[in-house]
Amino acid sequence: ALKAGIVGLPNVGKSTLFNAITQAGAEAANYPFCTIDPNVGVVEVPDERLDKLTELVTPDKTVPTAFEFIDIAGIVRGASKGEGLGNKFLAHIREVDAIVHVVRCFEDENVTHVDGKVNPVSDIQTINLELILADIDSVEKRIDRSRKNLKNGDKKIAIEVEVLERVKEALYNDMPARSIELSDDDKAIVRDLHLLTLKPVLYAANVSEDGVADADSNPYVQQVKDFAAAENSAVVPISAKVEAEIAELEGEDKAMFLEELGLEESGLNRLIKAAYSLLGLYTYFTAGVQEVRAWTIRKGMKAPQAAGVIHTDFERGFIRAEVVSYDDLVAAGSMGVAKERGQVRLEGKEYLVKDGDVMHFRFNV
Ligand code: GDP
Repeated sequence: ALKAGIVGLPNVGKSTLFNAITQAGAEAANYPFCTIDPNVGVVEVPDERLDKLTELVTPDKTVPTAFEFIDIAGIVRGASKGEGLGNKFLAHIREVDAIVHVVRCFEDENVTHVDGKVNPVSDIQTINLELILADIDSVEKRIDRSRKNLKNGDKKIAIEVEVLERVKEALYNDMPARSIELSDDDKAIVRDLHLLTLKPVLYAANVSEDGVADADSNPYVQQVKDFAAAENSAVVPISAKVEAEIAELEGEDKAMFLEELGLEESGLNRLIKAAYSLLGLYTYFTAGVQEVRAWTIRKGMKAPQAAGVIHTDFERGFIRAEVVSYDDLVAAGSMGVAKERGQVRLEGKEYLVKDGDVMHFRFNV
């Protein structure tokens, strides 16, 4: 499953949010590949299409696709120099696909702020600086190494040094690596450095319970939005405290509570959806009588790779895929009618899977 790491200064609401995530968490039995660890919470990706397909096929079981949240507590000022549990936590960030940065946008005299007052942009910069410093370290080490190899006049290495110098300059100007323009070739050069500031970021603006319905009028949220816009990051206003309460409710109780708060859906759902779109992810479905299931792929994956998400054998032995779009299948009302209408296609190895494809793979074992 894809992973998002939760970071933020102490006392901003990370644990509260993470606890809500694990409370709301997915049934582990359905996700044997997910990491079992107290710091990892597995959540199901909400998708109305999956409900509709379930109505249509009436399978024994329906399994949503899953997403992992990892609690990366412990980043404090000085983390990049080993303060707190600094380096260890920075190492955890290297492994995630995206960062959820929790920012305090609520006032509460009873909750101490590490700097004495609520100031979300300054909080963001404190954490970002640690990530930037860690990246400077990685980039400089690599530049030194490449320079040594440069003596033999290798053109490839000269290009590498040029790209790395460009990244280094941005970092020295307090800019995250994700804020600079990198071509695909450039990205390939920096890929194995696993730069922390190259990862996509979602700011979770933690607002108070009474401010959650009208988060946009919260000036702190506005400050976070302005900051995020400048570096192409996304913002999701959320109340960690409310999420913790929602996570304890089910079904109608949950719906009623959300309505009372003036919310259409839980902040957690909005967070999951935002992370999904931030990462450029698609969902495809398998729909058999035993199981209707959603699977996550990256945009641009071809049919065999998409099959590989289910099982590596499916990718290795891939022959063909039967594909119908979600819209066509729902309009037809059944797989049989969709087939009669000629909407179920046979696709080969080069087929680019689309969001919402309903797929059936044929493969050799
Ligand atoms: P962490 O250090 O970032 O993990 O922060 P915690 O989740 O432990 O939260 C720190 C304190 O802030 C706890 O006492 C929480 O109850 C409180 N807190 C978290 N979110 C909110 C909120 O939205 N409103 C208020 N008033 N308190 C909150």
